[in-house]
Amino acid sequence: MRIRRTLPPAAAPIFFKDIVSGLKGIMRGQKELDRFESEIKVYYKVKHCFLLSSGKAALTVILKALHRHSPEKDTVLIPAFTCFSVPSAIIRAGLKIKLCDMDSETLDFNFKELKLKLTDPSILAIIPTHLFGLPANIPKLKTVCTKNDVFLIEDAAQAMGGTDGNKKLGTIGDIGFFSLGRGKGFSTVEGGIIITNHDKIARQIKGIVDSLPDYSRFETLKLILFSIVLSVFMLPSFFWFPKSLPFLKLGETIFDTGFSIKRLTPFQAGLAKNWKNKLHWFSTIRQDNCEHWFGFFERRQKIGGKNPLFRFGAKKKILIRFPVYIDNSLTFKKVLKKSNQIGAGIMGTYPGSINTIKALKDCFAGQNYPVAESLAQKLVTLPVHPFVSAADQLKVIRLFNVEKESR
Ligand SMILES: *Cc1c(COP(=O)(O)O)cnc(C)c1O
Repeated sequence: MRIRRTLPPAAAPIFFKDIVSGLKGIMRGQKELDRFESEIKVYYKVKHCFLLSSGKAALTVILKALHRHSPEKDTVLIPAFTCFSVPSAIIRAGLKIKLCDMDSETLDFNFKELKLKLTDPSILAIIPTHLFGLPANIPKLKTVCTKNDVFLIEDAAQAMGGTDGNKKLGTIGDIGFFSLGRGKGFSTVEGGIIITNHDKIARQIKGIVDSLPDYSRFETLKLILFSIVLSVFMLPSFFWFPKSLPFLKLGETIFDTGFSIKRLTPFQAGLAKNWKNKLHWFSTIRQDNCEHWFGFFERRQKIGGKNPLFRFGAKKKILIRFPVYIDNSLTFKKVLKKSNQIGAGIMGTYPGSINTIKALKDCFAGQNYPVAESLAQKLVTLPVHPFVSAADQLKVIRLFNVEKESR
């Protein structure tokens, strides 16, 4: 066990002040939820907003609503490399999954393959991901989707506060959703947001949301306690402790369809009281840190033969983690192991592509997604959150430099 400064791979700090706002939120009840909802609507210039218990809960509700709107369609097309919560939500909504491979240079869909796959008449919706905050090419998707009468759901779980040109991520497709989970743009312990301008779909969503349960008192109490625990143990000085407890499964991505689907609590809305300032402040720091990592890899050129992410134009982006390719599998393992020892916050991405999830194996028998599969084995991420100090940056840089020399 390492009892020393340890960086979490991603973090959206929760402060004591936020917890006090959360408790005040409980007193204000529905009014607090209405405030948060209307602030989101104004900020994103959207007509409809719904607040839920998580990103996957939000996605499940969206999918159920779309299926009610178009009951003859039952399949959802997603990238073969994305968060395991996405297929979890699709299965939970009672729908089928279809995969499309990736473009290794953009982390977006392979558009050639996508165009062929989208002609399947059973496809209800497509879910592009703004992975790590890198904008997926939604405008390009939009034309293909309109042609095939497919709904476009923007997975902006990792991209709250990000933009593509002058458009806010989450508002470009038909429907967008965000996550307020631990390692996301900003956090209310857990939570999810749906935004849309589509009146008909919003009506279906409202029907579903109105029938959802609220958190019980006991569950709200657990949230409060957890927010206090998080506010302390996400700090680099204390993060070694939760990290050393294997049952917390920190950073593990699991496929699980048994999650709860509830409405957000007034406590969480209260935690989000200062969200615009926080998001702006975190985003500025993340952007600076991205620029720093970008500069380092640009000067240093290569690791394992291929340039890392300059091709993504990640220089001035607001990312929640900074992705870097490591082509050599030995170097990949060494970097992660070293980082673990020195607490540098470098981390792999997902344990595999979606077709390799054990519980879903039968759905994708005989199908291969080579780019998605290789991304899972080659991508690591560097931390960019507000806790990253100059000394931490040096630690990471030294780690990469040593790796280069020893090769
Ligand atoms: C985190 C995440 C989700 C799910 O959000 P939760 O709030 O954790 O349920 C969905 N998609 C992506 C890309 C994510 O990173």
